[in-house]
Amino acid sequence: MIALMALDLLAIAAHPDDAELTCGGTLAKAVERGYRVGVLDLTRGEMGSRGTPADREQEAAEAARVLGIHLRENLGLPDARLESNLDSRLLVARKIRQHQPRVVILPAWEARHPDHSTCTRMAYEACFLAGLAQLELEGTPHRPFKIVYSAMYEPMRPSFVVDVTAQYELRKQAILCYRSQFGDQKTWGDISPRMAGLVDEVDLRCRYYGSLIGVEYGEAYTLKEMIQIDDLVTMPVRSI
Ligand SMILES: [Zn+2]
Repeated sequence: MIALMALDLLAIAAHPDDAELTCGGTLAKAVERGYRVGVLDLTRGEMGSRGTPADREQEAAEAARVLGIHLRENLGLPDARLESNLDSRLLVARKIRQHQPRVVILPAWEARHPDHSTCTRMAYEACFLAGLAQLELEGTPHRPFKIVYSAMYEPMRPSFVVDVTAQYELRKQAILCYRSQFGDQKTWGDISPRMAGLVDEVDLRCRYYGSLIGVEYGEAYTLKEMIQIDDLVTMPVRSI
């Protein structure tokens, strides 16, 4: 998969399968709307207790095909020792310049797995660096317009929920491509050891966030900035 034009939406994740577990439905929905969509995984997940990096690479490619996304890349940074240093930030900034995403999805900034919160910090700083015209880095300076943070697995109040009811089956299929992670164990791996029963728990989380906006399945996000509404008359989600 080669990026021939700018991406509309790019998810940046610490490990292969994180993007599917957090925003797979949103990515599939964006593809259906005709947007150009990509995933940038920072590590190959080589420290995971199950599956080899080669397994996970193949699984990630399969999951990308299921979601229909246009680009999936892996930076091959060290799993479980992910560090936000200048080198790693510049690697990500180079990808931001290369793919020029309009919107970036990052993990929640407070996350149990240190790689997830490091990914958030590193990618945020990389998005900033990528826009600096004076920075000595190949490519055209670019800063994403919008950064949203997944709020699916952390105890934080979402700013908004995306209705993924129509994409839920694709989302599930994409997660189940990671047979090395979920084939027999059916646990959530590094996302949350508290939860067992992958399919049930995915269902529960998405149903809960869906219920907050009155639909069957939803994916939750949070923002640092405020949401602008210009027309109160057409606002979705019933109050009473
Ligand atoms: Zn992860």
